[in-house]
Amino acid sequence: MVTAPHAAVHVSRHPLLLHKLSLLRSAETGAREFRAMVRDLTQLLLYEALQDVALAPITVQTPLATCEGHQLAERIGLVPILRAGLGMVDAILDVLPSAVVWHLGLYRDHETLQPVTYYNKLPPELRPDLSLVLDPMLATGGSAVAAINLLKKGATGRIKYLGLIAAPEGVRALTTAHPDVAIHLAALDSHLDERSYIVPGLGDAGDRQFGTHSP
Ligand code: URA
Repeated sequence: MVTAPHAAVHVSRHPLLLHKLSLLRSAETGAREFRAMVRDLTQLLLYEALQDVALAPITVQTPLATCEGHQLAERIGLVPILRAGLGMVDAILDVLPSAVVWHLGLYRDHETLQPVTYYNKLPPELRPDLSLVLDPMLATGGSAVAAINLLKKGATGRIKYLGLIAAPEGVRALTTAHPDVAIHLAALDSHLDERSYIVPGLGDAGDRQFGTHSP
């Protein structure tokens, strides 16, 4: 993992992750394999993002003896930004079944390019120790900043952002608005195009996961 210009930005250099990222990007990859790659990449990023999670000591009885063990001491919340973030949720629940999930629906208004909230299931009474905001593409950063603004109103605790591909513009917006939020990425790309797509990117992450490309 390399730490990119801002101390809170981590771009993975794991060989397996780089291999799968190329499959994810390829225009030849169909929806089924694309979803599988989103899942695998999310799990690889999760391992890196959880490196500093607190543990509590426990005693484990093996078939032979007792030994010292560990259990996670932090309550972890997942905040997928609909709809592209959905593909990252099950990947994490598979390895972290105790995580709680808050769905957050934001879309980008095509005229203003500003995020609009259309679905918010953040329960204010639940306060995780660590919230993971999930969205595969950090483009302008508008949705990520808006999601974290909402999260900070209700929940306390640490917040991290897990994304697959970011543009420098999105990283700048997020680190400026929320310098306390660590960002974990599989790639930091070149730039945004005039429609705010990440270049080279992978196209529309929602369409590619759910097969909703226009003909
Ligand atoms: N959202 C996507 O799905 N892709 C981009 O390139 C930018 C935002």
